[in-house]
Amino acid sequence: LGDTSLHDRAQWSSDSEDDAERVDRVPLLGDHGVGKSSLAGIFAGIADKDDHPEEDTYERTLTVDGKDTTLLILDTWSNDKPVRRVEIVLDVVTGTAYVVVYSVSDRCSFDAAAELCVALRRRRAAADVPIILVGNKSDLVRSREVALQEGRACAMVFDCKFIETSASLQHNVSELFEGVVRQIRLRRAGGSE
Ligand code: GDP
Ligand code: MG
Repeated sequence: LGDTSLHDRAQWSSDSEDDAERVDRVPLLGDHGVGKSSLAGIFAGIADKDDHPEEDTYERTLTVDGKDTTLLILDTWSNDKPVRRVEIVLDVVTGTAYVVVYSVSDRCSFDAAAELCVALRRRRAAADVPIILVGNKSDLVRSREVALQEGRACAMVFDCKFIETSASLQHNVSELFEGVVRQIRLRRAGGSE
């Protein structure tokens, strides 16, 4: 009995070492101007993104529910890609989870986000990769073009988590990245919700 518990403990400690060394890659996808770099900057704790124009990957360890997880946020998807950019980015950028961003004040960016979700689910259906759909710029109340319910419905169709954020007001941004961590853990544990 004593041997078994020692063995269990050894397994636990090696598991947590793996977790400590693991870095989960999370690409930020979405149309130009929706706020990807702003969200990434907040994640990285950078007050003014203009001070760090060269950076497009950000590594940070978050403590969520008492455990540490290191995320590498990739803000590498620029808009100067060719027409078939959806296909290209999904070939090039691999992630443990994906954050797909649109602006609630830009209907076209919402359509583009849905298109990205389609492409991700088509390519990676077997992997069951977590996708977090983000409606950013929730502060722009008067120029809103996409209702909260539309975002929710879209997320439901593609089996994504959904959150509305405001990078400008720093509203729901830490909740977003904590949600990413929780989704990664759930998928890794074999859960589906
Ligand atoms: P990206 O092209 O997706 O990386 O978008 P940026 O982060 O560069 O943001 C594009 C523009 O939208 C910038 O002028 C930002 O200041 C602005 N912006 C980003 N997030 C928000 C937000 O939550 N609310 C408002 N009102 N503006 C935002
Ligand atoms: Mg950007």
